[in-house]
Amino acid sequence: MHLKSLTLKGFKSFASATTLRFEPGITCVVGPNGSGKSNVLDALRWVMGTQGAKDLRGGKMEDVIFAGTAGRAPLGRAEVSLTIDNSDGALPIEYTEVSITRRMFRDGASEYEINGNGCRLMDVQELLSDSGIGREMHVIVGQGQLSQILEAKPEERRAFIEEAAGVLKHRKRKEKALRK
Ligand code: ATP
Ligand code: MG
Repeated sequence: MHLKSLTLKGFKSFASATTLRFEPGITCVVGPNGSGKSNVLDALRWVMGTQGAKDLRGGKMEDVIFAGTAGRAPLGRAEVSLTIDNSDGALPIEYTEVSITRRMFRDGASEYEINGNGCRLMDVQELLSDSGIGREMHVIVGQGQLSQILEAKPEERRAFIEEAAGVLKHRKRKEKALRK
């Protein structure tokens, strides 16, 4: 399994539709300070279902929508699509290519799609949860995040490990079942 492409439209500084294509192996994103490198990683986190605005370096979720510049008006929605090569069947779905889309409007509502079909956030989370690229995104180590892990309380560190081990999904399901 590997990431094939990521398309950002109205997401943070990417006002116009921008597609990044990835090959298997290592991809480097280079550019001057403030050019949008971290925004690309934020888009990856976001399309995979991140709920915390703080994880995306914003005050509120709406901050992911292009806020406008001197020469360009703000936009009303952000959209990110991620295409994953699933020819090895690592994701539990009968497609060799899987595309996940998240769209958000200024009223805060998010829409999700898997291969063009509307779905729930939970469906996206479940699809990814055993893949090693889960919702809490500890495989994406952002600027400053290393120290956060090093300084974490023992129970927080346990959550990192549980996610990596694939236990978190079952814990979430159990919590959900107990709430009913
Ligand atoms: P560094 O090398 O300093 O880490 P970077 O390439 O990671 O820089 P980012 O943090 O990805 O840069 O991009 C920051 C830029 O994105 C800033 O110019 C900021 O104004 C812009 N930006 C963030 N959110 C929005 C938004 N909602 N609308 C428009 N621009 C935004
Ligand atoms: Mg950065």
